[in-house]
Amino acid sequence: KRRAKPSVEDLVSQILKGDITALSRAITLVESKNASHVEKANAIIKSCLPNANNSVRIGITGVPGVGKSTFIESFGKYLTAQGKKVAVLAIDPSSSLTKGSILGDKTRMEDLVKDKNAFIRPSPSGDSLGGVARKTRETITLCEAAGFDTIIIETVGVGQSETAVHSMVDFFLLLKLAGAGDELQGIKRGIIEMADAIAINKADGENTKSAKIAKVEFNRALHLYPKKESSWTPKVTLCSALHNEGIDNIWNIIQDYVKITSENNYLQFKRNEQNKFWLIQTIEEQLKSSFFNNAEIKAALEKQLQLIEDNKTTPFAAADYLLGLRS
Ligand code: GDP
Repeated sequence: KRRAKPSVEDLVSQILKGDITALSRAITLVESKNASHVEKANAIIKSCLPNANNSVRIGITGVPGVGKSTFIESFGKYLTAQGKKVAVLAIDPSSSLTKGSILGDKTRMEDLVKDKNAFIRPSPSGDSLGGVARKTRETITLCEAAGFDTIIIETVGVGQSETAVHSMVDFFLLLKLAGAGDELQGIKRGIIEMADAIAINKADGENTKSAKIAKVEFNRALHLYPKKESSWTPKVTLCSALHNEGIDNIWNIIQDYVKITSENNYLQFKRNEQNKFWLIQTIEEQLKSSFFNNAEIKAALEKQLQLIEDNKTTPFAAADYLLGLRS
């Protein structure tokens, strides 16, 4: 016999009490494509909103192998030891292709996953980065309502996903390796520009010397960028995620950032800007998906695609026609 599904009210009250099962269920609703689930998810988020917005949101990126999961495990345990409640979410740009996610995978953070003050959720899968990012953003709200005061959002350093993560966090941490040969040339300019701190990981053993050199070089490179709107000067620091070294220093940097940007109101300004950006993004996402998922449009689109193939119409005429069907 099937158990009755919990109501929106029940889920909300359990989430607000910090119930992880209810939180996970609500996230599953957020991630669902089913229209009634989405409706339920929206109702839950709306009720949770007054209790959200009260965490530090930290984005972490870096190429595969740089040590993201090792770092997050070490950092997360450091934070829970300080009495923090830490949620780890991920945006995996490849999950829609591979049908499985490589980031935020529980098996990668074996100790943290056992910590009752940590919550790890793998990347939602989705057919577009925009969709995945929206779900993650809604999940942030749910985690905050459940009492998580530190939200870590991990992404892998390939392509557009850093921009998506940057648009939903307060602080953006870039993990780098020394001697990867990209200190001054190959680094993606945009990502360096987004970073509020660069941590050179694996600064241990034989790597220590080259890590120190890399630190000087990154500091020099950062000086070439214009001053940030936040008036925050990005920091470069060394760490060893494996040996738990430099982790406390990174947390101190983040706390300094939060203090400074709270005092000069940049933190609130940034969150407001992010909210406005997300409004537009959500409209774009929903317009697109309601358009392309409409049965009439789907059938008409097939026909127009065939007409284009047969050279009987132009893309512009076809687009005009299809868009006209919805109005
Ligand atoms: P990710 O792909 O960015 O998540 O990287 P992982 O956390 O899986 O780490 C990749 C490899 O680097 C693993 O073998 C780790 O043990 C190792 N590693 C991670 N952090 C450090 C570190 O601080 N020092 C050293 N020496 N190795 C590390």
